[in-house]
Amino acid sequence: MSVAENIAHIRERVARAARRAGVSADSVTIMAVSKTVEPERIRHAYEAGLRVFGENRVQEFAEKAPALAGLADARWHLIGHLQSNKAKKAVELFQAVDSVDSPRLAEKLNQAAEQMDRTLPILIEIKVGNEESKSGIPADSAELDDLLKSITSLEHLQVRGLMTVPPFTEDPEGARPYFRRLRELRDAIASRKLPRIEMETLSMGMSHDFEVAIEEGSTCVRVGSSIFGARDTAKA
Ligand SMILES: *Cc1c(COP(=O)(O)O)cnc(C)c1O
Repeated sequence: MSVAENIAHIRERVARAARRAGVSADSVTIMAVSKTVEPERIRHAYEAGLRVFGENRVQEFAEKAPALAGLADARWHLIGHLQSNKAKKAVELFQAVDSVDSPRLAEKLNQAAEQMDRTLPILIEIKVGNEESKSGIPADSAELDDLLKSITSLEHLQVRGLMTVPPFTEDPEGARPYFRRLRELRDAIASRKLPRIEMETLSMGMSHDFEVAIEEGSTCVRVGSSIFGARDTAKA
C-alpha cells in the first residue's frame, strides 16, 4: 500500500470513530509521525494533504529539515523527550513542542522563544500509567501543579493542551481508561481558568489505538507506522 492509500484508509477510520464519538471528523487532526522516515516519503504524506508532522528527535529532524523546506505550510511538532540543553535548537526547528514534561524545560523553551521573539505553542506531556520508563509528568503530582503555576508567567509559551503515551496493551481497549483519565485531567485543568493556559488539544492515540482515543475525546492522533509502514526498530 502506498502512503497515499494508507492515509485515505486512516481518514475513513478517523471519520467513523469521530461519528461514534459524536464529533466532526475535522475536529481530529491526523499528525503524521515521520521519525526515521526519509524526506521523499514524508513528501508523499504532504501531497496526500497532511500538514501536521511529528518528529521525536531534534538531531534527526535537523538533518532532514533542509530537504523538507519546500513544504512551506507544513507544521513540525516535536513529540519526543527533549533535554533542556537542546531547547534552543528545538525552538529554531519546530513550530510546536508537544512533549513538555518539566518546569525546567518550560523555562528553557520560554527563554529560547523570547530570544527569537516568538510565542511557542506547547502541550504538557502527562504520564498516565505507572511505568518508570515513560516520560511525562505524573497526573496527580506536585510537579504538574508547579509547572502549571510557573507557565502562567512564561509569556513566550502558549499552552494548548495535554499529550500522553499510555502503557502498551495488546488490546487497544486497554488504553481506554488512560485516555479517559487524560480527558478528565484536561477538563479539571480547564475549569481552573489559569492565565495563558488553554486546554483545547488532547493529543492521544497512535496507530494501534487511535480509534479508541477519538472515542475518548482525542483532538490529535499521532500516526506513524500505519501511514509509513513498520519502522526500522534499530533506528526508532
Ligand atoms: C513513534 C510515536 C508515535 C507513532 O507511533 P505509531 O505506533 O507508529 O503510530 C506517536 N507518538 C509518539 C510520541 C511516538 O514517539
